[in-house]
Amino acid sequence: MASETPQRNIVIIGGGIIGCTTAYFLTRHPSYSPQRHNITILESQSIASGASGKAGGLLALWAYPSNIVPLSYKLHAELAKEHDGANRWGYRAVHCGSLSARGRLHEPTDTKGGEAAEGKGEEWQKLPKTDPNAKAKMAAKGIPKDLDWFDADAVTGYSEMGDPRTTAQVHPYLFTTSMADLAVEAGAKVILGSATAIDYTGPHGVKAVTYEDKETKKIHTLPASDVILAAGPWTSHIFPEAPIDAMRAHSVVVQADVSPYAIFSEIDLPRDFGRKGGGDVRVRRHGKTVSPEMYARPDGTVYACGEGDHLVPLPKSSDLVQCDPDRCQDIIDYVSSISTPLRQGAILARQACYLPSVSTGGGPLIGETGIRGLLLATGHTCWGIQNSCATGKLMSEFVFEGKAKSANVASLDPRRFL
Ligand SMILES: Cc1cc2nc3c(=O)[nH]c(=O)nc-3n(C[C@H](O)[C@H](O)[C@H](O)COP(=O)(O)OP(=O)(O)OC[C@H]3O[C@@H](n4cnc5c(N)ncnc54)[C@H](O)[C@@H]3O)c2cc1C
Repeated sequence: MASETPQRNIVIIGGGIIGCTTAYFLTRHPSYSPQRHNITILESQSIASGASGKAGGLLALWAYPSNIVPLSYKLHAELAKEHDGANRWGYRAVHCGSLSARGRLHEPTDTKGGEAAEGKGEEWQKLPKTDPNAKAKMAAKGIPKDLDWFDADAVTGYSEMGDPRTTAQVHPYLFTTSMADLAVEAGAKVILGSATAIDYTGPHGVKAVTYEDKETKKIHTLPASDVILAAGPWTSHIFPEAPIDAMRAHSVVVQADVSPYAIFSEIDLPRDFGRKGGGDVRVRRHGKTVSPEMYARPDGTVYACGEGDHLVPLPKSSDLVQCDPDRCQDIIDYVSSISTPLRQGAILARQACYLPSVSTGGGPLIGETGIRGLLLATGHTCWGIQNSCATGKLMSEFVFEGKAKSANVASLDPRRFL
């Protein structure tokens, strides 16, 4: 790396969680000097406009890859302590469990979105929490006492996957934007514009990044001594050699103030499953098993996401991502089929985003590319929130020390994949 040059222009392409934690850790590195080091996050649309603003936010010591997970999990806890992450980005330890259930067909409680379904359907008083019979049924199935937001008749089994020592959570949008803000407070800059090319024809490798300004649409050139490409699923649009694939996934956020659990579910749907009545004739035959994930959040909401699809290719930018309302409604129907609070809660968000993965398997890709000054930090699949802190820390070491020190990431060396 160009550590001998006093002036460094470090450009991070992508203002998702990976780009923003990288900026944060660069500004916290002992060698960082705001006088000598210009750090720029170049983000095409807005900070956290991709998966980083629409993910679940689970952190787990049993995530993968094992060479960076413990470091990242520990750094999440340290950052939360240092910056009041509990209040600022909803950091907290949670239980995590796997729940099996039999879904039931219910009348729709929210077909238009937005409005709460209070007064319609079943009442809160019928919740298992307040019904002694239901409580006894839940206890007989091994369900923890405080996991009281699923219907007793629907649940068929539960097993613990993590306890508050091994699983935690953040609100990914709030965490990512906080990382960007903290980096900016320490001297980093954010530019809204889309990188169109990386020029690495200089005598010392990387020379500049050209981008189209988001507002003016004018093309500009940013001088660069170091470029960290952290554009998630868009990485191969900028650097086609990077073997990064994109898979679309939908999610919803439901208003429901429930106990702190992250739930991986397996729901057997009845053959005639869907929504009836209310003028809605969307009744479908399922008879299959679906597996939405549900994460209770400290802000009185539950985030739920469904399975991924490859039906719509990755668009040019995050603002053009197509959200299919039917896919979101599926998730709402699935989780509503086993939980009264989720059935009754207002739907606060219906959204879609793209997951970045390494097409050959493995990853993420963290480190040098073989082109001097060009580093990759991408392909984090479904653990990018969990592994963001370790990635950011390691990138700061690559830039300022020329190699990773906090973890052995030889198996994630991009040169093995390019
Ligand atoms: C439904 C779902 C649930 C998830 N849940 C979890 C979870 O619970 N825990 C967990 O650890 N992980 C989870 N993940 C995974 C996690 O969201 C991703 O791994 C992570 O967000 C990837 O971050 P990123 O910064 O690499 O990419 P992104 O968030 O996609 O950010 C890339 C950024 O680059 C910008 N960009 C693109 N092209 C350009 C360009 N040319 N110039 C400038 N900027 C550009 C984009 O606008 C975007 O903001 C989940 C993912 C999905 C889809």
